[in-house]
Amino acid sequence: MADAFDLVVIGSGPGGYVAAIRAGQLGLKTAIVEREALGGVCLNWGCIPTKALLKSGEVYEQLGHLGDYGLAAEGRSYDFAKVVERSRKVAKQLSAGVAFLMKKNKIEVVDGTARLQAATPAPRVVVELKAGGARTLTARSVILATGARARVIPAVGLAADGDRVWTYREAMVPRAAPQSLLVVGSGAIGIEFASFYRALGAEVTVLEALPRILPVEDEEISAAAHKAFEKRGLKFHVGAKVTGLTKTRTGVAITFEADGKAETLEAERAIVAVGIDGNVEGLGLEDLGVKIDRGHVVVDSDGATNVAGLYAIGDVVGPPWLAHKASHEGVACVEHIAGFAGAHIAAPIPGCTYSTPQVASVGLTEAQAKEKGLQVKVGRFPFRANGKAIAAGETEGLVKTVFDGATGALVGAHMIGGEVTEMIQGFALAMTLEATEQEIMATVFPHPTMSEAMHEAALDAFGRVLHI
Ligand code: NAD
Repeated sequence: MADAFDLVVIGSGPGGYVAAIRAGQLGLKTAIVEREALGGVCLNWGCIPTKALLKSGEVYEQLGHLGDYGLAAEGRSYDFAKVVERSRKVAKQLSAGVAFLMKKNKIEVVDGTARLQAATPAPRVVVELKAGGARTLTARSVILATGARARVIPAVGLAADGDRVWTYREAMVPRAAPQSLLVVGSGAIGIEFASFYRALGAEVTVLEALPRILPVEDEEISAAAHKAFEKRGLKFHVGAKVTGLTKTRTGVAITFEADGKAETLEAERAIVAVGIDGNVEGLGLEDLGVKIDRGHVVVDSDGATNVAGLYAIGDVVGPPWLAHKASHEGVACVEHIAGFAGAHIAAPIPGCTYSTPQVASVGLTEAQAKEKGLQVKVGRFPFRANGKAIAAGETEGLVKTVFDGATGALVGAHMIGGEVTEMIQGFALAMTLEATEQEIMATVFPHPTMSEAMHEAALDAFGRVLHI
């Protein structure tokens, strides 16, 4: 006898567990299947524990600059095991929080590995239980929220060995912090770990195949980030195509080609952060004939796959691979399943990198806006002209706005600086509400705050900047 549900969600990351909560709120009898820990990569091996590590790194680095604030303390040191322990404790706390939320919303958690079998009105979910045995769940709808994992390129040695070559997972829990580190890839993962280990004093070199670091960001922000990170002692090789990663007697060696020349660098450890691949294997998707394109499940704007009753959300459906995108899609998908008309609101998705300084953006870069043929108006404001930033000693960075001059619509915003990941939401909200340039300029920003740089960057686009 199979257990019957309205909805079965496979995967409990920020896509799956949020979808399940929304389903619970809407009165759907819901089960969620998880093979590891509740909260998925984000809570257990991604967003959250890395923020705990980065905080330790930031505090430690700041201790090295106490003199800038008229302060002094004797010496500084860290206990790496305790830094890691704190990060794991934070992850555990959040995962337990998800368990509580599941209970509160009357969602049944099934611990095990799910596999789909053809059935109507939706595929059947057969779960190999962690506790042993199997359980079959039937439902009117099934949502796949199985996430993604670190991409590896074994042909050139870009694959974790758990010892000297790490993906984000191993990089979060090593026994000791390396003295020297090579990071392959300068996306959010590469840059965040580079920033963390540099803060603890490691010699860190980042290799990026494309011509600039953080290549998805606006070019000016990439350039400002490059400069700011170099000031902190990080080293970069851009346009560097890695051709081989091998182990040496004590560490690793990476060979790469840049400017037509082959070079080799050695370090104690290496982190591979060259993107991620969707978790589409072992689910029985091939047998069902689910359409997959380059490792990601193909869905429509409601999250529906080509198989009746089967939906997919989050990382497994492709970029941007971000937790908040997964949650947004999860809610929209469940509301569609529950019969809400027009559930899907296409909202701009902000992106954040929690390095020192931080990087955050939403919408189109200046180059993308130009490519679209928009009559682009750009505004800029540096934090070195912002009172709060000067008082806080956080003058590095800038805010850049991109407007469509023809309509006055804000089409993109890009920031680098102290707490910009907390500030980008202001621009995301303005874009979601389709604010005009007049409305943004007429908004009152509190003084003194770093957010005033956002106001000034909007004013600057229309020749009205005040404090520069
Ligand atoms: P990414 O795709 O963002 O960056 C990978 C980088 O590696 C790219 O710049 C690419 O050009 C480079 N690269 C690829 N192959 C290479 C090679 N052989 N040699 C040198 N460089 C090479 O991927 P990521 O940083 O691994 O992150 C994966 C996903 O997770 C991203 O979509 C990211 O947005 C998301 N993520 C987000 C956050 C955050 O929001 N703070 C944090 C971590 C991860």
